[in-house]
Parts: sequence; C-alpha cells; structure tokens
Amino acid sequence: MQLLKDRIRRDGKIKAGNVLKVDSFLNHQMDIELFQEIGREFRRRFADAEVNKILTIEASGIGIACVAAESFHVPVVFAKKTQTKNIAGEVYTTKVESFTHGRVYDIIVSKEFLGRGDKVLLIDDFLANGKALEGLAQLVGDSGAELVGAGIVIEKGFQAGGERIRSLGIRLESLAIVESMDEKTGTIVFRGDES
Ligand code: 5GP
Repeated sequence: MQLLKDRIRRDGKIKAGNVLKVDSFLNHQMDIELFQEIGREFRRRFADAEVNKILTIEASGIGIACVAAESFHVPVVFAKKTQTKNIAGEVYTTKVESFTHGRVYDIIVSKEFLGRGDKVLLIDDFLANGKALEGLAQLVGDSGAELVGAGIVIEKGFQAGGERIRSLGIRLESLAIVESMDEKTGTIVFRGDES
C-alpha cells in the first residue's frame, strides 16, 4: 500500500532492537484518514472472506481494528491482557510473549463473544515474531470459530513472524512489509521495492 509506505518513510523512526516507531500516525497519535484507507484496503483484500467479527489485542491494535470494522460492518473484540488467575471457565485464554516488553502475559477473550459460527479476521498494527497473532489464532481455534485470515499494517519481514504465520496456513495480508531498516542512515527498504 503505497500511501502507507510513503508515510512510514516520512515519519517512521528506527530505534535500537529492531523497533520501528510510528507514534505520530499509528501508535500514539492516530491519523484516522489514513486508518480509513487502511480499513478499506483490508476490506478489499478480504472481500471474499465473509468476515463477521474482527479480533485484535489491546492496546495498540484496537484503534486500527475499530476503523477497519467500519468497512466490514462487523463488531470488534479485543483480547485483554490480564494477570488475573481465577478466570478459567468463562474465557478462552493463552500465553503471549511480548516483543516490545520482553515478557509473557496471559490474554483472554470471554466465551460470550467468540464461538462456533464466527468467521474471524485478526487485525494488528505490527507483525514481528508472530507471538501476538499466534496467541489470537489459538483463541479462535479454542472457541470453535473459523479463522479466515490476518490483516497486519506493518510486517517486519526480517523477523520470523510472517514466515511462521504463513507456514501455519493462515492467510496473511500485510499492507507494508519492511525488508530491512538501518538505524544509522534511517533507510527503510520495503518488499517489492526496486531499490
Ligand atoms: P510479535 O508478537 O509479532 O512479536 O509482535 C507484535 C506486537 O508487538 C504488536 O502488537 C506490536 O504492538 C508490537 N511490536 C512489534 N514490533 C514492533 C515495532 O517495531 N514497533 C512497534 N511500535 N510495535 C511493535
């Protein structure tokens, strides 16, 4: 998606530890007109999928999932991160290792909001090592719902997540795939670019 790649090149900041900061339009301040374009692009790519629910993970996936959901005309469910132990029974739960915070946490979705008959699209802002998406896919599987695919705004193609998710047979659509980024020069190369 050219509009998105141009924006990443213009406003993205490359930080140590393979982190791309896009706080000015995606992760802190949010450019809702760009979000709408992104939402429409996800809708176009999954037009055949009969999505009836979008699932994301708090916190940074929620904004983009909500705007995308307007294009699909479906509700959004977000998996909550929790430390509560006494929750078995009413929720689906799994563990996720955080890329940005380097620790493991539990995520939960109430059984009330996910189940057999649902056709679920996963949406998230970033794909790095794939742990967040794998956790969400696990919850969908546990619930008996059908996973129709995953839509990612920015995939870091030099990390393992994309390959891992595709090898699990999950239909993955990433709107910008960063092939490499150089902290010193600020250069970002996207998959599909000539340069
Ligand atoms: P994964 O589970 O694929 O390793 O990491 C995905 C999650 O980590 C995303 O939900 C996102 O919030 C965060 N994340 C991973 N890499 C980056 C990055 O380079 N920049 C930002 N802003 N967030 C990232």
